[in-house]
Amino acid sequence: MAKRVKTKREKRLQQLMTLIIVAIVSCILNLVLMVGGSFTYFSMKDLKEDFATMKEEYSERTMLLESYISQLTYEKSQLLEEEEPVREETNVNEVNYDTGKIAYLTFDDGPTDLTPKVLDVLAEYNVKATFFIKGVMIKYHPDLLNRIVEEGHTLGNHTVTHKYEEIYTSTEALKAEILENNRRILEQTGVVVTAFRFPGGSSNSMFATYSDEPLENWLNLIDDLGMEYYDWNVSSLDATGTLKTPDEIYNAVISGCGNSSQVTVLMHDVNTNTSTLEALPRIIETLQEMGYSIQPITSTSKPVQHRTVQ
Ligand SMILES: [Zn+2]
Repeated sequence: MAKRVKTKREKRLQQLMTLIIVAIVSCILNLVLMVGGSFTYFSMKDLKEDFATMKEEYSERTMLLESYISQLTYEKSQLLEEEEPVREETNVNEVNYDTGKIAYLTFDDGPTDLTPKVLDVLAEYNVKATFFIKGVMIKYHPDLLNRIVEEGHTLGNHTVTHKYEEIYTSTEALKAEILENNRRILEQTGVVVTAFRFPGGSSNSMFATYSDEPLENWLNLIDDLGMEYYDWNVSSLDATGTLKTPDEIYNAVISGCGNSSQVTVLMHDVNTNTSTLEALPRIIETLQEMGYSIQPITSTSKPVQHRTVQ
């Protein structure tokens, strides 16, 4: 296990190095194009204005790339400083020492109008959770992403569109969605996201519905991106069938926990889920009474996965 973690960390470092090199090369290319732009500026006066605009765009892009480089460099230095992580041991630090139990509350598909209310409840109980963000929603509630980060919760990637018929046509399509969502989240918050949740979970039947690619391609993609995917082992049932009452949501979660020492609870951060919001305080209280330490997902959390590469 320790060996596997080390390999992944090395791969992540390698990917960071590649990204940094790509970004540096892009900067140099921008410079060359700017010089080219200046040359044309002197020789063809009628194109003066166009090139001025181009130069501005190029320097903006260069600035963006520079900030991306510094973000990646920072992350790289953090990784280098980090002691080699060992999942089992790190998890021990997070669990309730008396019971050895840990619970991850996860909210998918936001941000929405419900998010601030969910955040208020979490703040009231001083409990941290994980939000798997749908990229198309960011532009409606950009500040909520910052609030999620500022209040100590984890941001996860849940693709941009969440449309099965688009994201699951090929691993290339899914990759583009994940990278674009990472870019949007990074741009808004400065956070480099490494947690991913497949829309429908890794056990969804949509890979096979929309493509011929084998399952391992989909699962390996996440690893290739230096990310990890997190499914769930407890569903609040707040996205299935008819709208549930707060009692139904509460009962689904609590009975779903059974005797598990580690639970990842699936909930949905959508406007219609007022029942989830209403049930949340009781869910938190009961989980804590059951001996669970409620934690946000971090890179050291042991993921619940419906399907893994054999
Ligand atoms: Zn979803």
